[in-house]
Parts: sequence; structure tokens; C-alpha cells
Amino acid sequence: MPIGTSQFKHQLAAALVALGCLGHYSEPVAAQTPPAATTTAPSAGVVDASLLDDLVAAGRILVDLGVLDGFGHVSVRHPADPTRFLMSRSLAPALVTPGDIVEHDLDGIGITANGRTLFLERFIHAEIYRARPDVKAVVHAHAPSLIPFSVSSVPMKAMFHNSAFLAQGVPVFEIRKTGSGAPAMTDMLVSNGALGRALAASLGDKPVALMRGHGAVMTGPSLPLAVFRAVYTEVNARMQLQAIQLGGPYTTLDAEEGAKADKVNEVISARPWELWKKKALAH
Ligand SMILES: [Zn+2]
Repeated sequence: MPIGTSQFKHQLAAALVALGCLGHYSEPVAAQTPPAATTTAPSAGVVDASLLDDLVAAGRILVDLGVLDGFGHVSVRHPADPTRFLMSRSLAPALVTPGDIVEHDLDGIGITANGRTLFLERFIHAEIYRARPDVKAVVHAHAPSLIPFSVSSVPMKAMFHNSAFLAQGVPVFEIRKTGSGAPAMTDMLVSNGALGRALAASLGDKPVALMRGHGAVMTGPSLPLAVFRAVYTEVNARMQLQAIQLGGPYTTLDAEEGAKADKVNEVISARPWELWKKKALAH
């Protein structure tokens, strides 16, 4: 049965809100959007306000630097409970305030959602935290510079020292290969636990994975380092395309150089973090 213009508008708006695109659209969406899954499980506890501020800043930094736009999200593992993580309700990252942060569990349930709409792709974060105890923060982005490397046969390589973490290799998650047998034709979104687990398996022990025709996930042992890696993965993609356009062979960091340079990055990444955070919270 064909749907009416009004119904279509509301369904479209609901989908965009869930993706974090339309943070301001509110009126009929609540009635059109499935309520967030609920639980009676208690919260792992109130976190320090400075961590919420850092998470808000992380989203704004990533928007400022072109990694996120109306889409994408960043999360941090709960400091008191490794089976919980903190991420905003479904909202464009530049609009997030501390009051929008929701505690999630690893099944994607919003422990403190109180009926607020959650991101459809929260399972990206949940399943990476489940699979990778070393990961303390996750960024999911759709930056345009990343997409060509997710769909072409040219692998992403580490072009310079700031992106040395890419020298470990950059796997590409192929969502069509998440079923058994015939290619799985999905809507491209990692919107359930099974797809999240498949993405986490593709990521393996690497810090970054591209997602074919979609974007990327970048992880880190801290929120500042995850942001650092997200920023320099995006920069690296543009630089690699420029190197290719120059023609002829180009040389990238090998694994040993990458490991050595990344040890330095883990120390010096605090410097840009302080600058980026100050700028992000100033507006
Ligand atoms: Zn996405």
C-alpha cells in the first residue's frame, strides 16, 4: 500500500534522527520511532563530570576537523564497569551536551535512556567493547575521504608518523559477508548485535577498520587517543590519495617504523587534545 506524503516525511525524519542527522526534529518523531530498549538493570554509577565534558568535546572536535558531520558518534567505556559504555542519545555530535549522554550495556540497551531514542548503530560500539578489553573509546565516522579506500582495491597505508597506527594494517569490513552462503544484502547499517560482532571480528586486534561503502571505526586505549587516531586516519586518507595522484611509486611506513612511531604518538597525543578541546568547547 502506498504511503502518504506526511507518513513518508515522518518515517524519513525518524530514520534521520536515529542516525544522528536531525537532532532538532522532534514533534511527530517520537510516535514514529521504536522506543529504545529498556532494562531494570541499575546504572554502573554517576561518572565524573570531566569525563562527560571530554566526551562532548570529542564529538565537537571530530566535527571541527571534518571527521564527523551530522552523522557519526563517539563513545567511551564506563570507568567503573567495563560492560558499560557512554554515548549520546541519537543526536548530531555538535549538538551533544552532558545531559544527552546515555549509559549503554554491551547488548545495546540504554540503561539510562529513559525513553530517549538511541543510535541505530550503537552495536558497533557495544560489540567492539565486548571483543576488545583494551579498547576504552570508539569513534564511528562516515568521512568522505575514507570511503574510496573502503571500496577500492588500494589498501590504506600509513603515510606519515602521525598515522603510524595504520601500519599495523587496515582491514575492510564487508557487510555482505556477514551471513552464511549468499551475500547478505543489508541496508548497510550495523544495527544489531550480530552485525556488530562481525564488524568487531573484521577489526580483530587492529586500531582501525574501514567499512565498505559506509565509513570506518577507530579505537583507542583512551578517549584522546581514539580521537587522535580518528583525526589522523582521515588526514591519512587525503594524503594517500594525493600521493597516488602524483604518479609513480610511493613509500609508506613499514610495520616496525609504525610500531616505533606510534609509541611516540601515545605520549604526544595529549598536546593536540588540549588544543582541540579548548577550541571545541569555546563555541
Ligand atoms: Zn554509520
